[in-house]
Amino acid sequence: FRQPIMAGNWKMNPETEEEALSLASEVAERLGAETCATGGDSVDESTCTEVVVFPPFPFISKVKDAVAGAGLVVGAQNFFYEDKGAFTGSVSASMVKSTGCEYVLCGHSERRTLFADSDSNINLKVKKTLDSGMKPILCIGETQEEFEIGIKKEVCATQLSKDLYGITKEQMKDVVIAYEPVWAIGTGLVCGAEDANEIHAYCREVLTNLFDEEVAQATRIQYGGSVKPDNVDDIMAMPDIDGCLVGGASLEGEGFARIVNFKR
Ligand code: 13P
Repeated sequence: FRQPIMAGNWKMNPETEEEALSLASEVAERLGAETCATGGDSVDESTCTEVVVFPPFPFISKVKDAVAGAGLVVGAQNFFYEDKGAFTGSVSASMVKSTGCEYVLCGHSERRTLFADSDSNINLKVKKTLDSGMKPILCIGETQEEFEIGIKKEVCATQLSKDLYGITKEQMKDVVIAYEPVWAIGTGLVCGAEDANEIHAYCREVLTNLFDEEVAQATRIQYGGSVKPDNVDDIMAMPDIDGCLVGGASLEGEGFARIVNFKR
């Protein structure tokens, strides 16, 4: 059994603190009984669905305060891997940790393409996240061009091996992988649930080679790319898909709540 994990990546939305807080509370109010966030004695901590939101940096603290009672977890979309110093405009792992972040997105395709995050930098971020006591969600996935030339598996295998270089089996307990085919992000093009599942199963083969079978079976792998209320149940029905990383549809409280309250 792998504990489900549903996450909302707000990216560079919403625009104001007020909007961020109202979105967070809309989600918090609608969490179903299966989510860890509902709290109380009826929730089994080991099987409930974890729900994480990734607000933009300026809103993290207040969102955290607003949703803490509801048990929603917050994460950071990024940080710079140096500890401190003259890095104008950057924030460090300890800064986001101290604002209450439990998770960090590492290797998101928008960081890879728009901000030139390399696999070696992503590897440093994964390590720093773990060393700081937080959990990375490592995003991998092929571009449209790589998909068309038929190398999606090779791309995922390369990213996994480079980005997880030097990570121990013990540390892998805190690592979540997100398979996000770049051509399906924000396009409305969804990777078919079965096609996604095939890559998730393949990622477990890669994890078996990099670590061992136990790590491969225990690691949670999310799917991301145009997940919506009307396709989430089909996606979550797949045996190797353990959660979703949601962009656009996480910006609408009611819809995101329907996604996190998926039915299997
Ligand atoms: P969309 O859900 O908007 O396709 O974005 C997916 C994503 O990039 C999540 O990190």
